Amino acid sequence: MKMLWLSLLTLMMLSQTPVAAFPLRSSDLPAQRHAEPPEAEQKFAEEYLQHFYGYTPRSQRQKRTADNHLDADWSTDLCDKVRQMQRFFGLPPSGDLTNETLAVMKRPRCGLSDVERFEETIRWKRNTLSYRITGNNSPIPRSKVHKVFRAAWKIWSNVASMKLRKRSRKEADIVISFHNGDHKDGAPFDGKGGILAHAFLPGSGIGGDVHFDADEDWSFNTTGFNLLVVAVHEFGHALGLPHSSDPGAIMYPSYNFAPTHELQLSFRDVKDVQRMYGVSPNFASLFSKNPPPRTPNKCDPDLSFDAASELQQEVLFFKDRFMWRKHPKFDETGITLISSLWPDSVPPYLDAVYENVGRNNILFFKGHQYWALRQLKLEEGFPRNISDFGFPSTVKSVDAALHFRNARYTVFFTGHECWRYNELERKMEGSPMPIKEQWPGIPTPVDAAVFYEGFVHFFKGNIHYKYDSNSKRVVSTGPLNEQLDCRQTEDNDTLAEGR
Ligand code: ZN
Ligand code: CA
Repeated sequence: MKMLWLSLLTLMMLSQTPVAAFPLRSSDLPAQRHAEPPEAEQKFAEEYLQHFYGYTPRSQRQKRTADNHLDADWSTDLCDKVRQMQRFFGLPPSGDLTNETLAVMKRPRCGLSDVERFEETIRWKRNTLSYRITGNNSPIPRSKVHKVFRAAWKIWSNVASMKLRKRSRKEADIVISFHNGDHKDGAPFDGKGGILAHAFLPGSGIGGDVHFDADEDWSFNTTGFNLLVVAVHEFGHALGLPHSSDPGAIMYPSYNFAPTHELQLSFRDVKDVQRMYGVSPNFASLFSKNPPPRTPNKCDPDLSFDAASELQQEVLFFKDRFMWRKHPKFDETGITLISSLWPDSVPPYLDAVYENVGRNNILFFKGHQYWALRQLKLEEGFPRNISDFGFPSTVKSVDAALHFRNARYTVFFTGHECWRYNELERKMEGSPMPIKEQWPGIPTPVDAAVFYEGFVHFFKGNIHYKYDSNSKRVVSTGPLNEQLDCRQTEDNDTLAEGR
């Protein structure tokens, strides 16, 4: 039995197709093909890029000649802008308007541009500022709105040296209001969804003011859009902060509040606001035990993974609420929120993930539960218990899942043992085996496992193990983050001490 298991395993692994030869393109995500986006989608994307990425649409360009020369320029420019947007959101920078790119563009977000770059920092010259809440068209009770805004300012003044004073009658630096549609500031709101709010950078007049779209379904919890989350973001602009491409930052432009995540400023937000206004005297005492969370950095030598999986021709590496996407066509591996691809349904801090191409779904494991998603949507009846796979009740979670597309089976790793699951018959084959016999040289328990480029890749701690299934041995080991390109020079200095 043992021998059969072994030889079958080797045979099946030999039949694996290298990832690069896999016929689907990542631009087909979600699974269906989409050669040329319909006109409406193209128009939507152009408007989005015009608004948020400084793109000049064809209709507004000078018509020099009526030849195709102009068209070529135009499409190259559009392509560049799509690529710029894809990089910002950690998508493969193909320059194509893929379904996935369009889906990210359609996510609710802030109305400010993602590419505003200023000559110098724009900040208030004083550290004591006043704000005022005006207008009568707040869609929610006024007293509650006041409470939320006070809490939002406190989130900033807890970390940066500033005071915010509310005024009811006199003029204030920052005027906060709700508006429907066109409200005469040159940036009309768009009704439900799309743009949620916008703000003006520090300055006189409208400078520092914050507008919320009164047509949104605002809430104080997880239904609709959480007003506190959006207020903290917009108040950041009112203080002078631009958008951040760090998906863990509150200054990230799209709305990505998940009930599983506690609202707090990230390391990036704190650093940026402290650079402008100085450190709050309360900062050290408030945050010494619970410092602002850092978004995982692919260049961190101590980086480890929670899980890894193939997804069509990409390889995904999961960590906390985030994932990196390794695409065979692009050197860059962008970081993005797990929830930017699978909104709300997938939990953070996963144990294992694998894509089942045969069944056209992707499975996520955490503790005794697993989630199945198809076409980026949670399948009905999930999450379910991992006992579905035939695990005994003693198995409370899995460490990693290694799926073989062509051979249609999956190996689950639990502690020092591994299990082989037949995807065609949907049942576990035989009893669990010691990992040290089946995968000699692999330390246990493993963190993550995935097959790509003809090899099995194991991850444990900050080490990557490249395993050859033919010779059944580890062919190389190295730092885990060699699997992610690490050319960016992120300044990863520490936060100043509050005094
Ligand atoms: Zn914004
Ligand atoms: Ca809106």
